Amino acid sequence: MSTDAAPANFLRHIIDNDLAQGTYATRRWAGSPGDASHHAQANPDPAKIRTRFPPEPNGHLHIGHAKSICLNFGLAQRYQGVCHLRLDDTNPERENEDYVRGILEAVRWLGFDWQRGEQNHLYRASDYFAFMYQAACYLIEQGLAYVDEQSPEAMRQNRGDFSRPGVDSPYRQRSVAENLARFAAMRAGELPDAAAVLRARIDMASPNLNMRDPALYRIKHAAHHQTGNAWCIYPMYTFAHPIEDALECITHSICTLEFEDQRPFYDWLLGHLTQGGLIQSPPPGQHEFARLNLSHVVTSKRKLAQLVHEGHVQGWDDPRLPTLAGLRRRGYSAAAIRLFAERIGVSKADSWIDHDVLEGALRDTLEAEAERAMAVLDPLPLRLTNWEEVFGADHIEPCSAPVHPQQPERGQRAFGMGATLWIDREDFALQPPKGFFRLYQGNMVRLKYGFVVRCTGAQLNAQGEVTEVHAEVLPETKSGTAGASAVKVKGVITWLSQHDAVPATVRLYDRLFHAEQPGSGGGDMLLDLNPGSLHTTQGYVEPNAAQAAPETRFQFERHGYFVADQLEHGAGNAVFNRAVSLKDTWKK
Ligand code: ATP
Ligand code: MG
Repeated sequence: MSTDAAPANFLRHIIDNDLAQGTYATRRWAGSPGDASHHAQANPDPAKIRTRFPPEPNGHLHIGHAKSICLNFGLAQRYQGVCHLRLDDTNPERENEDYVRGILEAVRWLGFDWQRGEQNHLYRASDYFAFMYQAACYLIEQGLAYVDEQSPEAMRQNRGDFSRPGVDSPYRQRSVAENLARFAAMRAGELPDAAAVLRARIDMASPNLNMRDPALYRIKHAAHHQTGNAWCIYPMYTFAHPIEDALECITHSICTLEFEDQRPFYDWLLGHLTQGGLIQSPPPGQHEFARLNLSHVVTSKRKLAQLVHEGHVQGWDDPRLPTLAGLRRRGYSAAAIRLFAERIGVSKADSWIDHDVLEGALRDTLEAEAERAMAVLDPLPLRLTNWEEVFGADHIEPCSAPVHPQQPERGQRAFGMGATLWIDREDFALQPPKGFFRLYQGNMVRLKYGFVVRCTGAQLNAQGEVTEVHAEVLPETKSGTAGASAVKVKGVITWLSQHDAVPATVRLYDRLFHAEQPGSGGGDMLLDLNPGSLHTTQGYVEPNAAQAAPETRFQFERHGYFVADQLEHGAGNAVFNRAVSLKDTWKK
């Protein structure tokens, strides 16, 4: 795909500048991640830049991640670089292989590939545990780290806050030998969880709280999904992430703005490891951009997990969720999501993007892509009372319509018209309001792609509800024939013939949350749930639509864009999800 239409952004200026200055020109790449000696003998890195997308496999990816994926993979494509897919699996808890599979599938579905020629750039941070341990020992030897055995409570207290400098830990002046011994004891499993942490020794009075001797390692007696019981100490994110970037020869480590205050530590750590000759020089640089905040949804794996696990939705791929799996099931194409990412761009300023923008991108891609079909969502029978007399009782009149009105090359679709039809209930009125041009007694309308009919009345049940509409067909008026324009009508309605209409389950979605920012201000997001977010109806669709493969997208004329459900749609079981309405009705 081309990203040339994408407007320039501040990250591109940074990269342009680095390339012009040759900032990373001396880097070497040994064909796999590794320390300085691993890369030292290798050839210069053929990739002009290296970026990475580093999800933690503790949940499924959402639309916010898509922004980061499109950005990182997109920049690599643009600059003849490489983007790594790195599973940031340094935390044994809440991570699992199902999430890993979901992540790989979602990235691939979005249209990006971590395979470059012979090289498979899928990496796992847990593969770097041995090096991380070695790096920690190096810091200890340099007097740059110590084992702190204060209680977690005391550690919190002594950290100070924005107005109060921190207080040195009583363990801060331990000797190198003692620190090495205690760190080895941590690693050997001799200490229980939370009994000690390894901390960097930087500055307890720093105005940046992240520089007040941040924790590097903690004890966690937990099995890891990759490394099993090999470790009972695990690196903290702030320590692990810069090292992961460095071992992989990343040039531009792009992250969200929350990490801005961590950048000094990122540079501190990689500066020392470079100086010590442990990692290749120059080290990567961190650059922050504004995360995606999208109205009317939640984009936090924790909150999404809560919705799934408490049963407020039907799974991670529920079409109401902004997960990539959910959006896909809803009918979003990868192209629509990439278009959305391109439209929102990247900047340094935090902002909220309206959900309309996402739907707009979908609509704009579907307009050209989606096949047309007719569907009746709220079925009401229409009987053409003179059909038998005009054509014979069992006559089926063949009708056809373009697959796409602006793309004649896509051909025609075929269906028939008989004496009994389905129409949508809202297309008939007993007492027509002003400006109603559809079916009511005495009025003429065109059945789209078929004949003009004159409504003669309706049958009601004991409750006064309409059970069947009656009309007479005007036989000379069929669309596409010479007589079609002889009768002028103001209304055109869609319909299906009962002989070939296929029953279908159709799911109509509304926003999952009423509130623009669910749970904002510390409120409970559950209170903002829209109880009417899913409406399931039994309707009918054209035979072509019923036979379509799962994930085929349609415009059901007058009703919006729909997709054949990825999982449930199949032979004898037509299931459609409404992806988006035809017009922007979100705010009305
Ligand atoms: P969550 O808050 O949903 O758990 P996370 O940031 O903890 O998200 P990670 O798996 O660590 O999830 O994210 C992987 C990458 O995706 C990170 O580089 C992160 O910056 C990026 N990312 C996550 N959420 C967003 C977002 N809303 N907008 C842009 N990028 C995001
Ligand atoms: Mg995270």
